[in-house]
Amino acid sequence: VPANVATRGSLADVLSSLAPARPGATGGVRVLAEVRDGLEHAAAEATELGGWAPDDPLRLSKGTVTWLVRCPRRALAAEDGEGLADDLVLGLVVDAAAKLATLGARRPITVQAAVAYLTAQGDPAVADHLDDLGPSAAPVLREAGARVARLTGAWPGIDGGWWPRVEEPVRARLAGGAVTVTGRLDVLLGGPPTDRPGVVVEVKGGRWYDGMRADGHLYALLVGLRDGLVPAAVVTVVADGTTHAERIRPALVRHAGERLELAIRAAAPVAAGEPPDARPGSHCSHCPARTDCAAGRTWLAEAR
Ligand code: SF4
Repeated sequence: VPANVATRGSLADVLSSLAPARPGATGGVRVLAEVRDGLEHAAAEATELGGWAPDDPLRLSKGTVTWLVRCPRRALAAEDGEGLADDLVLGLVVDAAAKLATLGARRPITVQAAVAYLTAQGDPAVADHLDDLGPSAAPVLREAGARVARLTGAWPGIDGGWWPRVEEPVRARLAGGAVTVTGRLDVLLGGPPTDRPGVVVEVKGGRWYDGMRADGHLYALLVGLRDGLVPAAVVTVVADGTTHAERIRPALVRHAGERLELAIRAAAPVAAGEPPDARPGSHCSHCPARTDCAAGRTWLAEAR
């Protein structure tokens, strides 16, 4: 894999810069073994305290990993059920458009097509939200149209040799199944059994910030643990038009493993009945627990 895969680039740049994988390629085997050992060790120790078992495991997703690392108390907070915000709708539409583009849809990829795709996948929330807005949906639809056009304009034709897959499930079992980490990849290209290097594509709503990279790194780790081969690159495509592409280096795999270890260890005392740590920061402003959380309220008052 060339070292010059763009750190802010496009999916097209990444795909054209990756050389075919060599037969029998074993990229990252050593770092994967090292990271797996660390995770097994952390999961076994945490399970002693957390009391999980294969028939009642600790189940982690990318969202719970993020919050266990950032603020364990937030990881346990129920969502506030305020329904879909327009920003979230834009993210979901762009996400659906990216999947249609990856699958080589033969019909034009429009906002309507993306919303229909979501509904056909059993997720009618965006269609319902737009219906509820009625005529006031016009600005949201306009913005969604601009973002879908920008995405499809930059999306490369992906030839069948990449075996384009969307919403592929991936799972790691640790401590004999007492800890499971699951994910559903937005887009996965290449990797075994193809002769191309793996490329993980994560599509995000909202606005770009550097912390968004962590989900793609976690998924690259989970794919690596599954396939025995680390994907070559992660591309994060954001609904605000940002595309961030980066080559996966051993240090990133190690860092993703350390972050996952932290999350597993943070879950153990909570499962054992201790109150979760509250770690305030700028993330408090959107936290559903903020009205009941003294640490968060103090932080927000001081920040104001
Ligand atoms: S308000 Fe802040 S400190 Fe409190 S639970 Fe939420 S994110 Fe954590």
